[in-house]
Amino acid sequence: MSDFILALTGGIGGAKLCLGLQRVLAPGALRIIVNTGDDFEHLGLAISPDIDTTVYTLAGLANCELGWGRKDETWTFMEVLQTLGGPAWFRLGDGDLAMHIERTRRRAAGETLTDITADLAHRLGVPSRVIPMSDDPVRTVVGTAAGELAFQEYFVRERCGPAVTALRFQGAQAANISGAAAASLHDASLQAIVIAPSNPYLSIDPALAVPGMRAALRARGAPVIAVSPIIGDSAVKGPTAKIMRELGLAPSPLTVLEHYRGLIDGIVLDERDAGLAKHIHIPARVCDTLMRSLEDRERVARAVLTLALELRC
Ligand code: GDP
Repeated sequence: MSDFILALTGGIGGAKLCLGLQRVLAPGALRIIVNTGDDFEHLGLAISPDIDTTVYTLAGLANCELGWGRKDETWTFMEVLQTLGGPAWFRLGDGDLAMHIERTRRRAAGETLTDITADLAHRLGVPSRVIPMSDDPVRTVVGTAAGELAFQEYFVRERCGPAVTALRFQGAQAANISGAAAASLHDASLQAIVIAPSNPYLSIDPALAVPGMRAALRARGAPVIAVSPIIGDSAVKGPTAKIMRELGLAPSPLTVLEHYRGLIDGIVLDERDAGLAKHIHIPARVCDTLMRSLEDRERVARAVLTLALELRC
């Protein structure tokens, strides 16, 4: 078996680093465990937003303007659906729709999300292995003052507006880590585990809530390295900093570090936060972690891999 790096990711932020890792590693030397807490059923379709963002990004098919979905997308389905009075709050492009329909068809025929994801990613030309955290349903539920919202209702329909009072991961306790994730975590060729700069509370915690995931992350003794999604006191994109404030947490890379305490062996911080390094008592590496270009993604990937190498020595 060849050596590989295993990343744990959510959607947009995490996928940026995964693309950088894929570009600097040998083909096939990256495996990615993806959050499925955002998954939901809509219009009778099985939708896995973080898996699709990861697959589209790694296949070079992602829509960079929208930040989700496929590039060069058309919207006939949505236009007709809207005319017919159907729900239009969750937008599905015509090409994207094929992914959800095919996934739903294969699920109904009895295939696992793991097998379907592996095959669809392969067909789209992704050289890395994209692995759902679990084949069992885990659903992130967002507590707000006005009651609980299913994740996509909160994230897309309400545009992250309501203040978050609590988060829970329905089904997580009864879920199992997917077989491919467990096998990767215990594989002797695993060189390092990377917690991507994804939302720790919405994208990484659902995976950590599946029984045995934390223990499995530590089991092989491969170094676990996180990249902070917080730069200064802000998220690069999305509601991470807002949610932290609402949950009474200071948005800071130090809070992210604290959140992953006991799980990670090293952290990559943004150069704007270099001054915090003196408060960090695990190995840290500082670089410009803002990933706008492909070169940026490769630079952050190299910083992670360099730290991993140091930690293995
Ligand atoms: P989502 O599931 O689509 O919300 O995406 P993720 O959870 O994977 O990513 C959201 C997080 O990515 C946010 O906390 C952002 O701050 C972070 N993020 C996005 N782009 C960058 C970047 O270029 N650099 C760093 N360090 N974090 C980023």
